[in-house]
Formats: sequence, structure tokens, C-alpha cells
Amino acid sequence: MSGFAIRGWCPDAWHPMVAGDGLLVRVRPRLGRLDRDQALGLCDAALTFGNGLIDLTSRANFQLRGVSEVVWPALVERLVELELVEADPVREIKRNILVSPLWQDADDTVRIATELIARIAELPELPGKAGFVIDAGPVPVLLGEAGDFRIERAASGGLILRAQGRTSGVDVPPGTEVDRLIAMARWFAENGGLDVGRMSRFAAELPDWAQGSVKPAPAAGAFRPGPTPTGAAWGVPFGQVSALALARLISDPAATALRATPWRLLIVEGATFAPVEELVDDPQDPLLRVDACPGAPSCPQASVETRELARGIAPQVTGRLHVSGCAKLCAATGRADVTLTGREGRYDFSGEGRERLALGRDEVLALFGAG
Ligand code: SF4
Repeated sequence: MSGFAIRGWCPDAWHPMVAGDGLLVRVRPRLGRLDRDQALGLCDAALTFGNGLIDLTSRANFQLRGVSEVVWPALVERLVELELVEADPVREIKRNILVSPLWQDADDTVRIATELIARIAELPELPGKAGFVIDAGPVPVLLGEAGDFRIERAASGGLILRAQGRTSGVDVPPGTEVDRLIAMARWFAENGGLDVGRMSRFAAELPDWAQGSVKPAPAAGAFRPGPTPTGAAWGVPFGQVSALALARLISDPAATALRATPWRLLIVEGATFAPVEELVDDPQDPLLRVDACPGAPSCPQASVETRELARGIAPQVTGRLHVSGCAKLCAATGRADVTLTGREGRYDFSGEGRERLALGRDEVLALFGAG
């Protein structure tokens, strides 16, 4: 049995993170997809072993929250049975692969990700957060998402290998993509990358075979709630949903599978697009412009509540809003127009060209005319 994750490590099911509301157990579905039975099994596991809340992460993974150390082994056993977690903890650590959620059966993304999973044992030991991105659909959709070793579609129509932090990559002959990914990961591990941690910060010159001047094709626009090529998409406010709501979503008789995305959207294959409790179906909903970490009491670092306050003021904020339980700003997804940061039980406000420090909750609400 493996142990608990240390701070700064990337948790997985075998190495859960200790959070304020119990253990946080991460699930990395293969190809980001759960069939109907797996999705219902995940919801049942969250209710049986956790507090019934499920996070959707920026790497298109799920996290079950509020798990006790006592039930954690039984939970992992259940997740292995559901084929959502590898029985081998080493394989689970290495299987850090983000794929385009818009993959279609037997396309390049599926082909490459499936081969990479099959050859996962060939990967070296990598830093906890180092991962792979397979974005091989007709148009890149993951250019804004982190991932150290990447296969992407180029404007020419071919595929390129690109290291995170480099603006261009090198053409890869069809069928050799996984060879190149493994070679790049090995080169990174053998040349000092383990000390640096992420490819984006690793300034060493790439080997000749990994250097190129081919840029990825222009990215697709942002995805919003509504129909997508692979199913209907709903927004997940703050990246968290209850297991009950998720189970209702996948219980639609027409639904066949659930796909995770890194954009706080869940896609349901076959489902009818309609309002669903807890989830966002309006592409203009202000909650889609909000980042808010779990805050107090879920996170021990937080001194303030975050998400209810964010719900209260979001309609009054123009642009992006970030409400953070502390100065670590874990939930940030980019530049925010308005930021509220918890400090010693009060909120520091910055935005709209001004700053106000140490505001109480009511003062924040009044500031936004939401009191
Ligand atoms: S930003 Fe602070 S309070 Fe929020 S989740 Fe991160 S550590 Fe916890």
C-alpha cells in the first residue's frame, strides 16, 4: 500500500493528498472518459467512501473528497475494480496524460494515447507534476493547458513533438510519436530535468531530434456549455459537483459515457442538452468567469470562505473574478480582473485600478452592491 502525498507532489489514488476535509483521492480516467457504469460507480464511491463531492481538475481528472484513512484502501480497491485506477501504483503515477476531450474513435489522439498507456513502463521516473499532452485532433484544443511532453497538430496537417515552454516543435513521422515522447522524457530525466521539475522551466538545449521550427496550428476557440462534436457539455462551477448531481446527469437514458475536460466542462456522450441542477447550461453564466479555491473550512491554509462569496458577487463583476482562501492562489487559471485574497480572516481586494485591504465579508458584498 502506498502513502499519502506530500505537499507539492501531484496526488493520485495511491498517494492521496491530505486536505482540510479529509483525503483527496484523484482518479485519472483513461482517455478522460468513463463509460456509464464507471461514471455511476465513481458517484457511488464518492457517496460511500467520501463526502459526496467530486472535483474536476485542470488536467481533466476527478478527485473524490472527504475520504478517511480508514476507508481509503477499500476505495482504491473499488476504483481498481472499476478500471479507473491502475492496480500497480507505479503505472498510476506515470499515467499522467491529458488528451483532447474531442477525440473520435480510432483517431490519432486515441491511437497515440493508447500506445503510450500500453508502453507506460518504458517511461523513466519523472517529477510528480510532469505529464503528457496528446492533442492530435484536426485543430489543437489544449494549447493553453500545461503538459511537459506534447504531440500536437501542426498547420501543415501533420503532427509535431513539442516541449512545453518552446513555441515550436519538430515533425514526427506517423507511428513514431510514442517513441519520441518516451525519448524526450528520458532525455529530460537524464539531463537534469528531475531537479528543475517542469519542462517549461528547463532551459537546457533540446537534442537535435527534438528541435524544430514547426508551430502548432492555431488553437480552436474556447469551449462553452452546449453541444460539442462529442456530446453535450455542461459547466461545472468552481470545478466541483456533487455525486448525486453527476449521477443524475449520467442517468439520462440516452447518455452513454462521460468525458472530462480541463476547462471545467463535462461532456456527456448521447445526452440531451437541458438544464441540470448544480451545472451550468448558459454560456453567458457569470460563474463561468470565476475561479475560487475550496477555501475554509475545506483547506487548512484558508482563513476565509470563498465560493459562496464568489456566487454572491459574480453577477456584479465585469471580467474574471478570483476569490482565494489565501495568498497561494491555487485556483488561478489566468489573469483575473478582480481578486479577493483571504488573509487572517478578512479579504484583500484588488481590481478596477484600486486596492482595499482587510475587508470583512459584508464590506465585500457592499463594495459590489450585493449586500
Ligand atoms: S489558495 Fe490557499 S486556501 Fe485556497 S486551496 Fe490553495 S492553499 Fe488552500
